Amino acid sequence: MLNVPSLYDERTGLNSGLLAHIVHPLTSWPEISRNHNRDRFLVFLTMLCIVTLAMVIATSYSRERRLHRATRDLAEQLQSANTLLSAEARHDALTGALSRRYFLDTLRHEVELARSVGTPLSVAIADLDHFKQINDRFGHASGDRALEHFVEVCRAQLRPSDAIGRLGGEEFGILLPQTSLADAQAVLEHLRKRFHHEHCAHLPDDAALSVSIGITELALDDALEWILSWADLALYEAKSRGRDRSEVRPADPAPSTRYPENSFAGK
Ligand code: GH3
Ligand code: MG
Ligand code: MG
Repeated sequence: MLNVPSLYDERTGLNSGLLAHIVHPLTSWPEISRNHNRDRFLVFLTMLCIVTLAMVIATSYSRERRLHRATRDLAEQLQSANTLLSAEARHDALTGALSRRYFLDTLRHEVELARSVGTPLSVAIADLDHFKQINDRFGHASGDRALEHFVEVCRAQLRPSDAIGRLGGEEFGILLPQTSLADAQAVLEHLRKRFHHEHCAHLPDDAALSVSIGITELALDDALEWILSWADLALYEAKSRGRDRSEVRPADPAPSTRYPENSFAGK
């Protein structure tokens, strides 16, 4: 006999006349109560797991968003630093003229363009006269102001499509696209005179500035370094003929007469 509360049932077979005694044991109240407590604990545990999981997901989502934002900010900072760097690499820090490298790139580009379209292109090299004396007499800072002044005068005199680059020290390259040699000389003579007469406000009154300019034009088959070599030769002539003047050197139709040692490529 079971020692637990039970339901008793009797069933009689229809044909056999046999009687079946069925006993259904009932769950005791303390056990029901124990099961109930266990179920409640399981529900609580499940809810706890769900809440913990939701918190973990929310935390990692917000961390992910924070990281994403930080990465995006860094990428933006990097991009603006790159833009700044490349702008700095393109310009000379003191005068704002194009850097030597960027000027030579521009020259290369303009030479290709002039050749493909068939337009003239003039190139000049300008070198400030007796610049060492300016530094010696008035100080290096005044020399710097004179360099800035030269570039300002160039900007005022030249077209926006022209380019001016600092090749080094007190030497500048000037690029005049779609300009014949005769026109280039006229423009650069104006520039030279203007630089001579326009007083630089940051220099003492007795500081006389002047510039010598060598000018050439693009020949059909001239390599880049030849163009600059011709301008350099013209500059040399301007210096040796007394400075504060410009000289032209027409494009040479006979490449055999060139002097490779004047090449600018390694300068
Ligand atoms: P020339 O008429 O033959 O060109 O004589 P120069 O004195 O101009 O030429 P030189 O090559 O003897 O001297 C150039 C001077 O330019 C020497 C150098 O100290 C000065 N210089 C170069 N770069 C700078 C610069 O950035 N700032 C200043 N203030 N001076 C510079
Ligand atoms: Mg000089
Ligand atoms: Mg020089």
